[in-house]
Amino acid sequence: MTIKSMSHARGMAMYATIMGYPECCIAEFITTFDDVTEHRKLMGTGYIPCAKCNARHTEQKLKETIEINRLYPLSFHVCTTGYHIKISDTVVDSLVNNEVENKIKRIIRKVKFVA
Ligand SMILES: [Zn+2]
Repeated sequence: MTIKSMSHARGMAMYATIMGYPECCIAEFITTFDDVTEHRKLMGTGYIPCAKCNARHTEQKLKETIEINRLYPLSFHVCTTGYHIKISDTVVDSLVNNEVENKIKRIIRKVKFVA
């Protein structure tokens, strides 16, 4: 499946940016999220690394990158131990600043939309 809705893509990019996921992984996820069938590192955490990051980095390195970039106050470790997060719109809005907006724009530019 390839995503068709810009607002859906934007919502996913915003959530994933707040979670601290790398831009390349977010863009690939939004483009192909239903099509990834092979095993990827950190499966079941809600984060799916892109093919490049999956091949290049250890799970430890991926986790460290996410923690460094994370804006959401709960650590990624909490999520990897089975706690799945639902963030309210209020919390999302409070975490979105100019830097997040710029990341979202860069991510959206990398997403391949169906015409
Ligand atoms: Zn990546």
